[in-house]
Amino acid sequence: MTALTVPTDMPEPRNLVAGRWVPGGDPTVAVVNPADGQVLTTIPDTSEAGVDEAVRAARAALPAWRSTTPFQRAAVLHRLAAAVRDDLEELARLVTLEMGKPIGESRGETAKLADAFDYYAEEGVRVYGETIPNEQAGVTSIVRYEPVGVVGAITPWNYPLELIGWKLAAALAAGCTIVVKPSEYTPSSAVRLFALLQGAGVPDGVANLVLGAGTAGRALASHPDLDKLAFTGSEATGAAITRSLAKAIPTSMELGGSCPQIVTASADVDDAVAGCLRRGFRNAGQICIAINRVYVHRDVHAEYVDKLTAGVAALKVGPGLDNPDVGPVTNAEIRDRCAAHVEDAVARGARVRTGGTSQADRAGTWVTPTVVDDVPHDSLIVQEETFGPVVGVVPYDTSEEAVALANGTDAGLAAYLYARDLGEVFSIGHALEFGNVAVNNPDAGIMNAPYGGRKGSGHGSEHGREGLHAYLQIKHLRIRYG
Ligand code: ADP
Repeated sequence: MTALTVPTDMPEPRNLVAGRWVPGGDPTVAVVNPADGQVLTTIPDTSEAGVDEAVRAARAALPAWRSTTPFQRAAVLHRLAAAVRDDLEELARLVTLEMGKPIGESRGETAKLADAFDYYAEEGVRVYGETIPNEQAGVTSIVRYEPVGVVGAITPWNYPLELIGWKLAAALAAGCTIVVKPSEYTPSSAVRLFALLQGAGVPDGVANLVLGAGTAGRALASHPDLDKLAFTGSEATGAAITRSLAKAIPTSMELGGSCPQIVTASADVDDAVAGCLRRGFRNAGQICIAINRVYVHRDVHAEYVDKLTAGVAALKVGPGLDNPDVGPVTNAEIRDRCAAHVEDAVARGARVRTGGTSQADRAGTWVTPTVVDDVPHDSLIVQEETFGPVVGVVPYDTSEEAVALANGTDAGLAAYLYARDLGEVFSIGHALEFGNVAVNNPDAGIMNAPYGGRKGSGHGSEHGREGLHAYLQIKHLRIRYG
């Protein structure tokens, strides 16, 4: 067996605490390149004591940071945006190395990270309170928004930079301090991002980074001195985190879900197929808002499936650095879940139209983009989040049936509707029990509109004004002056 070599140009896997790079413990967690199985770096799983140090640093830095004006914080965030743009190539390379996505998508993600810093720099100076009339003369009520305090943020690997960025940008703009624990699959782009903070003028202790897996995550989530916890990840981990909170603090939970696309008889079928190719297979389907299941009116079902099958079969699959359409999936859990979901659907009578072949023997973690047709409602593809390049198609006869099937799972994050009949757009659009509904387009989340889930997909918003208010708390100041 050939020994695996560790590349020498990865950032040193250290924690950033109170402005100093410190070791988080023994390096025990290997970070693997999903394109070839090679170990890229090894990180510590930071202990409870190490996480505690970071939370203390955030607490100590809070009084000074929350006393800065939003204009001062905006200047810092704009500098951070510029620093990210200057470092875009290297940040993007680290994202692709560690999670596998095509380098073009990593560049896009990094550019959107910079945009998030700019956006919240500008949104932070537009936090307006209210004055409220009082029954009693000589008394006025003022509603003020104040920073919520010390934030813990736990993030996943599918968008390693953006999912930190939305939390970090909004928290800093609001005047909060923060401790971030990135995914153990994708620590290095986070390390590189945090190395840009000091140069941009983020004071020591305002933003801290702790590396690790379950130990670090549990220690952060259950720390008694947090004022808020923001989490993006699986439903199971979100539930574990909710149970482990030391006290009743506000949380934002973005937990993904199996997202439906509905294609009615009035839809532009080519447009719907293009939407599914993008939202079902981009990032190898590893998107919280990925299309996982498609409900197609029987009149256009055959046309849709034929065209989707042709489109998916033509997707170029390869290592992310070659910029294909679809890279490897990030880990063996995803690869094996994709196989299990396809197998389960077939066992229940579904038909594989393209893909479905095992790549378990290939070095790295690969899944052939797959379309499965006639998928029954109780199959895993419908009921669970596959989180890989696999889409299940289901024909339907009436709009009521399509809505009932789409709503008929625990998922409530995003739904996609393709229809040209205005009555269908409004009636189906209103009936869908999802936090985000995209009609005739595949983008259910944009930076300046609120984005969040319902039901098992979590609660709270990121993006938009609401994403900033997630890091603010209300104070009612009642003043008697007469
Ligand atoms: P995903 O597979 O989408 O990354 P996970 O929910 O497994 O979803 O992981 C998301 C983040 O939560 C990662 O940073 C992971 O290390 C962290 N994590 C995992 N288990 C726990 C836990 N029990 N408590 C806190 N954080 C955890």
